[in-house]
Amino acid sequence: MASSTKPRVLTGDTPTGRLHLGHWVGSVERRVQMQGDYDCYFLLANMHAFTTRADKPGDIRQDTIEIVKDWLAAGIDPNQATIVLQTEVPAIAELTWYFAMLLSFKDVMGNPTLIHELKTKGLEDKYSFGFPMYTVGQCADILAFRPTFVPVGEDQEPHIEMCRKTARKFNQLFCGVSDRTPDDQYATAGGVFPIPKALIGRIARLPGVGDGAQKMSKSLGNAIFLSDPPKEVQKKLNKITTGRQSPTEPGDPTNILFKFVEAFITDPARVAELKDRYARGDNLGDGHVKQELAEAVNKLLEPMRQRRAEFEKPGGDDTIVDIIRAGTRRANLVAEETLYMAKAAMKIDFGRRVLG
Ligand code: ATP
Ligand code: MG
Repeated sequence: MASSTKPRVLTGDTPTGRLHLGHWVGSVERRVQMQGDYDCYFLLANMHAFTTRADKPGDIRQDTIEIVKDWLAAGIDPNQATIVLQTEVPAIAELTWYFAMLLSFKDVMGNPTLIHELKTKGLEDKYSFGFPMYTVGQCADILAFRPTFVPVGEDQEPHIEMCRKTARKFNQLFCGVSDRTPDDQYATAGGVFPIPKALIGRIARLPGVGDGAQKMSKSLGNAIFLSDPPKEVQKKLNKITTGRQSPTEPGDPTNILFKFVEAFITDPARVAELKDRYARGDNLGDGHVKQELAEAVNKLLEPMRQRRAEFEKPGGDDTIVDIIRAGTRRANLVAEETLYMAKAAMKIDFGRRVLG
């Protein structure tokens, strides 16, 4: 698989909990669609989970396994896509160091997603030195695979921009590529790293259940998980608040409830009808919309629940660990090759190692 000629794709998730509907519409759905036509690498960012949860190594380990179960349940096929465990790819940690020298302190600390996370995750005055480092680490996660595309949700855009900046800088500084080179020509102009492109999902930012102010997030307690049972899905959807008082009050068909309608009701004619009746206050209550939504979400999740059940049997975790090991072995072939190319450009190619 390392020698595949298909264009490469890299993306991943941090094992800070299970996967939720935001992951599905923001990135995972696209991964399932792309895995046959692209050389896909899906990364478990378990090193990054330590930036906020160093006190919970057991949880990080189990969440790593649970996320792979979610991936397989969602339709990711480990025979087509390569599943990669960050902590077993040493090239990523090494590239992180080199890339940290290419970005300014201001580039990192001014990253809008980082600033937002410090606020919303309650980290403002107590975050570790390592927390901001994850943004540099993410540049290495991506560039270690020299991908063309990175399918992500909208919140990741500043990170991808930072990664693109790092790639340009590296190519200019160590490979003699001109800073006037168009992004799509860096590789052919002699750069080690192509400048990757973000592919933002069908729904760029799914809000969390509640008032919709925050995005749905594992860490914010506002998520509907892919593994939630049907009743839990309905219960969580009922937490959505719009401020609307009655079924006859004209409603806003772009509010949080309708973000969910757009994301999960698949028949466009039905979506249009619901929007029209809601806007006119034509006897359509929020409760009714939520019920229809629950049916649609559960229809999406039911096959995932069934596939997941296979891995919840005894021995399931061992099977997952085997899948992670096999994928990571394949991934290291690519990442080591990238590291060697980068070291050669940096004139530190003193020896080529073989990972045992
Ligand atoms: P955490 O709270 O630990 O940051 P998270 O829920 O934000 O977790 P990540 O692992 O950071 O999840 O994100 C994995 C991928 O899913 C990224 O591509 C991200 O953009 C996407 N994603 C996460 N939440 C959403 C959302 N609510 N809407 C769309 N995409 C999302
Ligand atoms: Mg996140």
